[in-house]
Amino acid sequence: MSDTLKNYIDGIWQDASTGSTFKSINPARKQDVIGEFPDSGVEDVDDAVRAARSAFRTWGRRPAPERGDILRRIGDLLTERKSELAFQMTREMGKPFFETKGDVQEAIDTAYYAATETRRLFGYTVPSELPNKFNMSLRRPIGVCGVITAWNFPVAVPTWKMFPALACGNTVVFKPSEYAPHSGALLVQIFEDAGLPGGVVNLVQGNGSAGRALVEHPDVNLVSFTGSTETGSKIGEACGRMHKRLSLEMGGKNPAIVLADADLDIVLDGLVWGAFGTTGQRCTATSRLIVHEDVHDELVGRLVKKVTALKLGYGNDDDTEMGPVINQGALDKILSYMEIAKEEGVTVLTGGKTATGDGLEDGFFFEPTIFTNVTPDMRVAREEIFGPVLSVLKIKTYEEAIEVANNIEYGLSSALYTSDVSIAFRAMHDIEAGITYINGPTIGAEAHMPFGGVKGTGNGHRDGGWEVFEFYSETKTIYVDYSGHLQKAQIDNVDD
Ligand code: NAD
Repeated sequence: MSDTLKNYIDGIWQDASTGSTFKSINPARKQDVIGEFPDSGVEDVDDAVRAARSAFRTWGRRPAPERGDILRRIGDLLTERKSELAFQMTREMGKPFFETKGDVQEAIDTAYYAATETRRLFGYTVPSELPNKFNMSLRRPIGVCGVITAWNFPVAVPTWKMFPALACGNTVVFKPSEYAPHSGALLVQIFEDAGLPGGVVNLVQGNGSAGRALVEHPDVNLVSFTGSTETGSKIGEACGRMHKRLSLEMGGKNPAIVLADADLDIVLDGLVWGAFGTTGQRCTATSRLIVHEDVHDELVGRLVKKVTALKLGYGNDDDTEMGPVINQGALDKILSYMEIAKEEGVTVLTGGKTATGDGLEDGFFFEPTIFTNVTPDMRVAREEIFGPVLSVLKIKTYEEAIEVANNIEYGLSSALYTSDVSIAFRAMHDIEAGITYINGPTIGAEAHMPFGGVKGTGNGHRDGGWEVFEFYSETKTIYVDYSGHLQKAQIDNVDD
């Protein structure tokens, strides 16, 4: 059996102690079984955490730039293997090859960025209030990090978390999604080949129960999670109870606002990419189009033409523009929203059903779908469907657009299309979201920029950018008194 169908604990590829396995299949060709992976239990999680704790003693003490050298080698190997890795990712989770190559590129950018930051893990020095005393702060690693991720960015998102964690001197237990186990294993194999010492990153495959065991393990100091808001809330409760540092990146219902003065050619390209890229299965997917009444009909008419021309298929075929959804459960969920849409009285302008023809019956394909006559209180305007479905809401003014955009539980990404620079700057402040794109779609994160959301999407932390290095390190404050006698702060230096 190939190593990448196993767990990786303490530098050894191994089966789960449970002896059970689960299958990963190609969502575009259901008969194509990628492999059987360990369905890990509490014991496997325990072994992995022990290995990570033991490795932490040496890894955490290595000079940070030396850790950075390994991250750089990982970046080099990811670059070398970009195409073969992307091919396997597409096979496992369905998005087209050009998109999975972008996913790997994001991991490459993150590796080089994190490697560089190992030379800039700043603390600071400030004057003391007392003579002959020196004050400074420095950064220390936190310990063992539990990394739990979704399947839709099976390489980029785990690296957003693991690379800064490793740069700061932490060790990791990584539980990828049960819908992208092979991609997770191929990534860890690259770490091994790049010379990352055994135990520094440990891979535990499995479903939510393995994730829960990791979250609740007393020797895991920090948890970083990407997934649904429902799962994130459960993890939040456990981490709160156990006083663990926690980063949550969760769902979205992202608006693209199109005002009457927008360049509709740019808008159209942005909407097709934003709403139907990754088959709408991105946390940042454009799922609400909030459009001014003056351009509504023209925009929607042109959009339908573009969307119906999209070529659906297996993502590793050259001409595929949109892949399948991840599994039967996702397809059922999307279909249930078609019923909800019918009950709510929306107009299904295009799509609305599973896609057929050209071998599409072999996979979980759904037609790109556009709803019009949607109002802000409807469930299709408020809930994350996580599929190729765009709800269109008509507005009359900028103020109404902002109200509709903000009237929602989530706050991840957002877009505004306008040619009025003053309105653009107002919107940067007015939209309640972690990310706002001006004249671009709701997707397009860059590795060195903070990524994350407000309200129901997150808990105040970010993946990416500089802030993430704060999350994976602890500040220690140091006072050095070289006066040669006892000095009492706030007492010796204050005359009453
Ligand atoms: P999910 O919440 O079902 O699963 C995510 C991960 O959590 C998986 O690895 C799963 O095994 C694990 N898990 C499940 N139950 C658990 C538990 N009780 N304790 C610990 N771990 C548990 O999410 P999904 O369906 O894989 O992914 C889709 C969701 O992820 C969408 O809501 C999407 O918006 C969100 N997402 C968010 C971001 C972001 O950065 N904000 C990025 C990608 C995806």
